[in-house]
Formats: sequence, structure tokens, C-alpha cells
Amino acid sequence: MTKIRYSIVAPIFNEIENIPELYRRVCKVMEALDEPWELVLVDDGSTDGSTEAIRALAVQDRRVRPVIFARNFGHQIAITAGWDYARGDAVIIIDADLQDPPEVIPELIARWKEGYQVVYAVRTEREGETWFKKFTAALFYRIIFRITDVKIPVDTGDFRLMDRRVVDVLKTMRERHRFPRGMSAWVGFRQIGVPYRRAARYAGVTKYPFRKMLRLALNAITSFSYFPLQLATYFGFISAALAILAIPIVAIMRLMGSHFFEGQATTLIAVLFLGGVQLISLGVLGEYVGRIYDEAKGRPLYIVSEAPQD
Ligand code: UDP
Ligand code: MG
Repeated sequence: MTKIRYSIVAPIFNEIENIPELYRRVCKVMEALDEPWELVLVDDGSTDGSTEAIRALAVQDRRVRPVIFARNFGHQIAITAGWDYARGDAVIIIDADLQDPPEVIPELIARWKEGYQVVYAVRTEREGETWFKKFTAALFYRIIFRITDVKIPVDTGDFRLMDRRVVDVLKTMRERHRFPRGMSAWVGFRQIGVPYRRAARYAGVTKYPFRKMLRLALNAITSFSYFPLQLATYFGFISAALAILAIPIVAIMRLMGSHFFEGQATTLIAVLFLGGVQLISLGVLGEYVGRIYDEAKGRPLYIVSEAPQD
């Protein structure tokens, strides 16, 4: 069997209208390169017939490798399965909705051939997305950049090329709540960005409602930072310092006959405020503890109902 040079990995969750176009454009771009390649299509529990479409493609073209999940496990997990099943010397992750144009792949490959091991695509523009999505995304990347120790490049998604050595390292990282673009920054190696214009969706609607975006953001933060936990410590020090300062001031004011700090309302506000802060801190702690619990269970990351034959 010929050695596979490039693996294109696309996670798919209900993208029936996009699959033929994705296949057509990937073929067009990759055939021009004249090196062996494969297209790993990870079906993340689709219910719209995408599964059948992927199977049909795989029958018709042996370069298509179908990985079919037993249910929806989420975008990040689908990418992970892509890493696991890809056989190429370079692995390229791409969205199935054609927001990441396959025509950019040769540029990523060119950088790889120069010796870079991670070539991530940087979004200079985003077309056809709501201002809310653009705003929350921009804010998200900047917060992550500020509070995490790994410098995850801003405005990059999962669209990137990774060398076999990088993928082999990533495959050993089996954490459950994962943020693949952070993980691929964390491993190090020689990394570089390539700018591109993020297109509008070819067809269909986004599979990332606000709820999922929030979960991804939480995973990103908890996977790469203790900052939320430290926040409770900082806050504790600040309130303790305030109390120590306030005690003599209030005592002196009382001795001088002032009635400024009297009454239940003041007490109530202080109690509610601190109670709120404590509950929030408890919730933050819960986010981390819950993740530890999930890790402790040690369940498989995903369940495949159909794996590629070879
Ligand atoms: N996706 C997936 N599982 C999910 C949600 C999304 O595999 O639970 C895939 C989806 O089919 C697409 C990619 O992840 O190929 C990115 O999703 P989407 O385009 O909906 O996200 P957006 O571009 O709007 O952030
Ligand atoms: Mg998209």
C-alpha cells in the first residue's frame, strides 16, 4: 500500500448539503498536488442522512475514510477521532461547512515543507457571521490569551496542518474536556500562522449555539488555567484587607458619635454580597471538581459504530 502523505480530517454533524461540495473541492485541490492523500470524514452522530452520504462516498472512492460515531460526542471529540484514524505524514483539520476554504491547504502545505510542524490558519476576516458571534469570538480569544500560560494564537480556529510527530504527541493526550487548538499550541514544536479569509457557510446553519460556545470557552479556560480558582484567593485577600481597614475607621467614627454605619440594610448588603461571591467561587470550584470526576471515570472518549476497514 502506498504511504499516505496528507490526511484531511473533517468533523461532520448534520452537514448533508455540504458533503458533496466539500468532497469536490478537496479532490480538486488535492489532486493538483499529485501526492497520496485521504479524506477522513468523522460523522459525529448526524441524523440528517450525512452518515449514509459518507458511507456512499467511501464505497465510491477509497480515499475517503469513514469514522462513524455511535452518537453525538461534540466537535472537539470528532477532531480527536480524526487524529486517531489519520495516517498521513501531515494532518489537516478542516470544517465541513466550507468556512475554511480547501484552497488554503496548499499554502499550509508549503509552510510545512519549509519545516514548520504546526501551521495554523489565522482568520483575518469572517464573512456571513452575526456581529454577536464575531464579538463573542474576538472577546473569547483575547481572554484566553490573557489568562492562560500557553500562548494560544488569537483568531485561530481548528483549521490547521500538523506534522505526524505533533499528531502522535496529541494522541497521547487523552483528556476528556478538550480544546484542540490549545492543545496543539501547548505541544510546542515549530509553529507558524497563515492568514486567510473565513468564508460564510456554504449551506445549512451553525451547529454551535451559544450554549455550546460557552461550554467550549469553559473547557478552554479550565484546561489551560487556574485563574478562576486564583480569583477567589485574590478576592478573599481584598475583602479581608478592606475589613481590617474598615474596623478601626468604623470604631473611631462611633466614638466620635457618627451614626453612618448603622442599620440592617448595611449588614444585609454585606452578607448578600459576600454570600454571592462565596457561591460563585464554589461554582468555579465545582467546574474543576466535575472535570476531575469525569477524568476519574476513565470512560472512552468516543464510541465508534463503524470504523474504516483497513
Ligand atoms: N460539528 C461536529 N459536532 C458538533 C458540532 C459541530 O462535528 O457537535 C462540526 C460541524 O459539522 C462543522 C464543524 O464542526 O464541520 C464546525 O461547526 P460549525 O460550522 O457549526 O461551527 P461555527 O463555524 O458556526 O463556529
Ligand atoms: Mg462553521
